[in-house]
Amino acid sequence: MSILIQATYFLAAILFILGLKQMSSPVTARRGIHWAGIGMVLATLVTFLAPELSDNPQAVTNYILIIIAIAIGGGYAWVSGKKVAMTDMPQMIAMYNGMGGGAAATIAAVELLKAQGEIAAARESFVGSVINEADPSLMTVSGVMGVDVTILAILGAIIGTIAFSGSVIAWAKLDGRLNSNKLLPQQQLINLVLALVLVGFAVAVYFTGDLMPIIIFFVLALVLGVFITVPVGGADMPVIISLFNALTGLAVGFEGYVLGNAAMIIAGTVVGSAGSLLTHLMAKAMNRSVSNVFFSGFGTTAGASADAGESGGSMKEIQSQDVGIMMAYASQVVIIPGYGMAVAQAQHKVWELTQLLTDKGVKVKFAIHPVAGRMPGHMNVLLAEAGVPYDLIYDMEDINSDFQNTTVTLVIGANDVVNPAAKNDPNSPLFGMPILNAEQSDNVIVIKRGRGTGFSGVENPLFLLDNTRMLFGDGQKAVNELIQSVKEL
Ligand code: NAP
Repeated sequence: MSILIQATYFLAAILFILGLKQMSSPVTARRGIHWAGIGMVLATLVTFLAPELSDNPQAVTNYILIIIAIAIGGGYAWVSGKKVAMTDMPQMIAMYNGMGGGAAATIAAVELLKAQGEIAAARESFVGSVINEADPSLMTVSGVMGVDVTILAILGAIIGTIAFSGSVIAWAKLDGRLNSNKLLPQQQLINLVLALVLVGFAVAVYFTGDLMPIIIFFVLALVLGVFITVPVGGADMPVIISLFNALTGLAVGFEGYVLGNAAMIIAGTVVGSAGSLLTHLMAKAMNRSVSNVFFSGFGTTAGASADAGESGGSMKEIQSQDVGIMMAYASQVVIIPGYGMAVAQAQHKVWELTQLLTDKGVKVKFAIHPVAGRMPGHMNVLLAEAGVPYDLIYDMEDINSDFQNTTVTLVIGANDVVNPAAKNDPNSPLFGMPILNAEQSDNVIVIKRGRGTGFSGVENPLFLLDNTRMLFGDGQKAVNELIQSVKEL
């Protein structure tokens, strides 16, 4: 039976890795999700055969509890996944990330509580050997590896708990339920003290295994997750979400060691490394270091409002008929989608417009900023859903030098990712973030509903430039009007 279980875990792990590999391209991503999903189903089902469960005197009760838990969790995820609006997807991802961290922390809590008392006894008999050899009842990973599973459980507990409470705060911020960027004066100092106290209690848990230190340890980790996430500025959310994703993977990996579960170890490590890479890419896309994200409050409301209204100049409006003519006779049009396109669900209309222009001999390209929208790959998903071919879609570094050869850049619902203040204004909270060079094209047309700022809350001087015209209105409605005007030509 054990061989069957381990072989199935191995197969599941292979499916996770192959699935992840396929997710690296939009062409194969859907298949990748299915493969990883099959791996997860296999890993879940085979766990029912584990001797710890089947040989347990309470096997029937445990099976019933597990099935109820799977039905509630799976049912809720199924319904919410089907119903969620594309614009709410980032919040959902933040929340599900947090659930992974919370699950890993719960496993750690159960293991630490189970080992209560035994830990202290084992430490006393600890003479120059690892705990696994001192008291085999505390280990599930072979002593050959020389790994003290209590340390791994504690590490997983810290990381998983911080990822859980931090993700809940990220969810609240993305969902517009929490706008504050400040909890207490001297927040960073308090966080540092809190982190040190947490380490102190981790040591206490390790040596005593007593209930009270365990409880305080988890409460401190929960509070630390909240405290480090609240001050993070709005514009840094992509980095934070992917960082918590990586941390959740790491916590699951650690707890996989604690349970001796190969599938958890491999899946956790894969998520941890993929999440770390994504965090690095996101931070690079915003020209930020991860420590900067945590400690400088980039894009906070305070910095943003200080900037607002200081730009001077005025926005110049244009009508859709004029934009239609401009685009129909252009040699090249570059479309920059942003969060507003997701809100307006305008991607299908944008693709219809693209086809019309292409039929008229206009070269149309899409320029995607890595943090456009509200989650990694947000724009790519929307454009893929609308059927835009991948060869029309360009990453920032591939298209930025091409704006000089562009007759019309159509910015639809994007703001921060085309804000030239990120390049020119050292006082801007966005300064240093690479942006799409929309302003270098002959004409810039911006579709947005009004004069609202972007996610970071800062004014955008692009809207005031001589070569920029504003086409005010809801994204879908405005693009529809453009379609009509191009059709009439
Ligand atoms: P943005 O800066 O949030 O700007 C979106 C613009 O869309 C707004 O200025 C808004 O102006 C307009 N808009 C909203 N609804 C609209 C509608 N129905 N029709 C037309 N326009 C509409 O968007 P972005 O340029 O895509 O930049 C993304 C921002 O989100 C960055 O600051 C990034 O750091 C942050 N972020 C990204 C992620 C990620 O992983 N990608 C995650 C979290 C946060 P009006 O109100 O005037 O219409």
